[in-house]
Amino acid sequence: MMPVAEGKICVPEASWVPAERLKFVNRFVVERADSCISCGLCASLCPNGVHKRVEGHASILPPYHQRCIGPSCSSNEYYCVKHCPTSSLSVRASETFPALRASVTSTLAKGAGSGGSERT
Ligand code: SF4
Ligand code: SF4
Repeated sequence: MMPVAEGKICVPEASWVPAERLKFVNRFVVERADSCISCGLCASLCPNGVHKRVEGHASILPPYHQRCIGPSCSSNEYYCVKHCPTSSLSVRASETFPALRASVTSTLAKGAGSGGSERT
C-alpha cells in the first residue's frame, strides 16, 4: 500500500492530490485524435470553454478537461463530438477520478474514526 501523507492521497495512476483539491480533478476526459485539422468548430460550439483556438496559432489548444460535462452532453445541440467534421473527438468518464474520490473518502473517514482530522 502506498504511503498517505497528511491531507493527501495517492493512487498508482495519479500523482499526489490534496483532498481539498479533489473538486478540481477532471471527471471526464476529452480526446482529440491526430486526424484533427484544427478547424476550430468545436471551440465555437462548446459553451464551456473546453476547446480553444488562438488566432495566429496553427493548432487548436489541448482540451480543458475540467470544464467538460461528459457524455451526457450528447443530448445538446452543440455536442462537439457529433459536429466534428473529421470525427476526431471523443468524451468519456475519467478512470482516475473515482479512484481518487474513493481514496479521499477513505482517508477522511479514517481520520474521523481515529478522532483526528485531516483538515485544519
Ligand atoms: S471540430 Fe474537430 S477537426 Fe475541428 S478543431 Fe475541433 S476536433 Fe479538430
Ligand atoms: S462534450 Fe459538451 S461540454 Fe464537453 S467539450 Fe464537447 S461540447 Fe463541450
